[in-house]
Amino acid sequence: MKKITIAIDGGAWTGKWTTAKWVATTLWYTYVDTGAMYRAATVWLRNEGLLRASEAQIAAKIHTLRISFWKEDQEWLIFLCWEDITHEIRLPEINEHVARISAFLTLRNYLRAQQRELAQWWWVVMDWRDMWSVVVPNAELKVFLHCSFKERAKRRQAEMRAKGIEISLEIVEKNL
Ligand code: C5P
Repeated sequence: MKKITIAIDGGAWTGKWTTAKWVATTLWYTYVDTGAMYRAATVWLRNEGLLRASEAQIAAKIHTLRISFWKEDQEWLIFLCWEDITHEIRLPEINEHVARISAFLTLRNYLRAQQRELAQWWWVVMDWRDMWSVVVPNAELKVFLHCSFKERAKRRQAEMRAKGIEISLEIVEKNL
């Protein structure tokens, strides 16, 4: 079978993550969790005392950021240098900062280059809103997921409920 890169794009709560995981498992491809990479970068900035850093400060240090993945049993572990931070990247403190940190273009470009490299050597499935257009525009298979507005709102509500946040469907729809 020829190696191809599979890039899955789509709006929020259209099922990108679920689909990408399923495709990877079914085809024996590697699912590259790019969100985990941004989370790892946030852990790194926190460790460096740079959570409130400017883009210029991040740019000056970015070359020292080393993220790697390792598969153990059926689980992918993520490392910062040689430290296993698989659980740490999901901590509330990281949740709180990751979206803001991800917006730094210096960081995005650095991680995008790594994502491209992974796609070059591995049989990968990657999902996110910048996959198609920026990260792997030449991917052999590009999928764009659509989902009804009502269904997306329901998923968002279920996700929030799972985190213990009670919110009406009307408000979720308004936010969407
Ligand atoms: O998917 P996950 O919740 O782990 O992603 C964490 C955060 O990383 C997202 O909220 C988003 O801000 C950022 N992200 C990104 N680009 C990606 C993947 C994730 O900016 N390709």
